This record gives sequence, structure tokens and C-alpha cells, in this order.
Amino acid sequence: MNRTLDFNQYQQGLEEDRLLGLRCKACATVTVPPQAVCRSCAGRDLAVEELEMRGTLRSFTVIRVAAEGLTPPFVVALVETASGAWVMGNMEEIDPDAVDMALMGRAVTIGSKSVPGDIYAVGDMRSLTFRLA
Ligand SMILES: [Zn+2]
Repeated sequence: MNRTLDFNQYQQGLEEDRLLGLRCKACATVTVPPQAVCRSCAGRDLAVEELEMRGTLRSFTVIRVAAEGLTPPFVVALVETASGAWVMGNMEEIDPDAVDMALMGRAVTIGSKSVPGDIYAVGDMRSLTFRLA
């Protein structure tokens, strides 16, 4: 399937400190990370757009039992980006043992870091990270 923005291009954008999304030309919804169709209307007429690297923390959890290769505890968060799309990533520079519901609604900046691939991955990849603004 031909994609307007493929996974490797999305990863390359993160490498360059750019968050790339897809804006639907039919309904204006932003989809990120990239998919073949609009997340709202399933439209296929999508344009690549560089998104602001900021958002609002909408939900989080503390991971205490992690998958192979990851070192717990750490905080995984859902962030509503300034573009309206929601993305998942890891909170940085925060003590997992000290977080509470006061995190909800806090402004964050969005970045990324390289994470090692596991036995199922083709190699290292970039993962989204968030820091309190
Ligand atoms: Zn759409």
C-alpha cells in the first residue's frame, strides 16, 4: 500500500526533532503516528504536516513490571498534542514513585529518544518522550 508518510519517514522526522503527522484534506483531523487512512473519516487524501512539539497530559500510568529490555519503574503517558491528535510516550525527568493525579492536564513538551529493539524488532527505533513544560 502506498502511504503519504511511512514509518521510516516518521522515524526520520523524530531523529531531526520534528513530529510529522497527516492532516486529512476532507475533515482536517490530524493522524499521528502515520496510518494509511484518516483516524476520523478513513479518508485517504492526507497531507504531511509538521506538528508543534507540545501538548497536554491526559492520562498516565506507572509501569512497575516491564517487558524484556526495559527497566521499571517508568511513567507512560497519553498526551493530546496541540494539533488534537493523541500520542503515547514516556515521561522523562520525573520520579515514578512521586507522581500523582496532579499530573493530569499539565502542559508538556514532546521529544523522542532512541530505544533498543527487542527480538521482534528490526532494530533500534525512536520513541516519543514528554517533559513537563
Ligand atoms: Zn478525515
